[in-house]
Amino acid sequence: MRMLAKGRFARHILDWYMRAEDWIRPTPQGLYVEAGGFFIDPARPAPRAVLTHGHADHARPGNGDVLATGATLAILRARYGDAAGTRLQAAAYGETLRLGDVTLRLVPAGHVLGSAQIVLEHAGSRVVVSGDYKRRRDPTCPGFEPVRCDVFVTEATFGLPVFVHPDDGQEIGRLLDSVRRNPERAHLVGVYALGKCQRVIRLLREAGWDRPIFLHAALAALCAVYESEGVALDELRPASAAGAADLAGGIVLAPPGALADRWSRRLPEPLAVAASGWMRIRQRARQRGVELPLVISDHADWPELLQSFAEVDAPEIWVTHGQEDALVHAASLQGRRARALRLIGREADEET
Ligand SMILES: [Zn+2]
Ligand SMILES: [Zn+2]
Repeated sequence: MRMLAKGRFARHILDWYMRAEDWIRPTPQGLYVEAGGFFIDPARPAPRAVLTHGHADHARPGNGDVLATGATLAILRARYGDAAGTRLQAAAYGETLRLGDVTLRLVPAGHVLGSAQIVLEHAGSRVVVSGDYKRRRDPTCPGFEPVRCDVFVTEATFGLPVFVHPDDGQEIGRLLDSVRRNPERAHLVGVYALGKCQRVIRLLREAGWDRPIFLHAALAALCAVYESEGVALDELRPASAAGAADLAGGIVLAPPGALADRWSRRLPEPLAVAASGWMRIRQRARQRGVELPLVISDHADWPELLQSFAEVDAPEIWVTHGQEDALVHAASLQGRRARALRLIGREADEET
């Protein structure tokens, strides 16, 4: 009895000295959870990967065992087919799993359909890897749930005080005003294929737009995944099959790259719109020839980042990608130890 108690005591002492960086660490390939033998969002194919969400800079093809939410796996299958992974394992939000010596749970991140924070527990400490996240309501996915932790791993895409996102309903209202004022023109909205596209569609429906919405072919597959996961998008039509009479006064969604290319020339007097957090930067909108910039972001803005640190109450913050320096400084002003991991392979520009 005494021996057992002593052994347990020794283990507690050991846990006490075991800090998170002893069992989870940044590598050139991504965050490696040594105690569990897996990578989180690896930048190159890994034998065992846990994925936060389906965006291409987090979920790459060619991994071996892949653990993610069922919706993220459906997104991966639509994007990569058989290259989605050798063995796919779905975890429900809140389900507790054991991988190696690590206890793991996926919790909603509020970023896109299927997006999850990964809650890891080992040796008496809890680390939350949030992937990408936002705090606004999004009709296409469950909202971010703050989980108290010892280390909170955060993105910093919009980690500068200048980034304060406006209300998305107000931005959609600006789009609908413009459609009313320009009934002869087609509004061509540049949106990322995963998340932004479907969120803009839902927001339009909520604002009362009940006409068909026209889609560039590159957006169709992921809209079908959202529909099959229970997100109703109502009537969508391929833009390629629509006549000029339908498209005039209509709303057409396309990947951002299509705004300036030949594809858009067949539309009647196209009016270029873009929906992205980057549209806060007027110069960016101008460079891309965007006539109507809408600031609609799937990432936390500056106040949401700092609010999240306070809510998860983490004494330590690790910043993965984006505008790290200002955020590290702001976190340390909150009395937290903060550091930039400078993970490679995360494109700040992509799918935001
Ligand atoms: Zn993302
Ligand atoms: Zn990202």
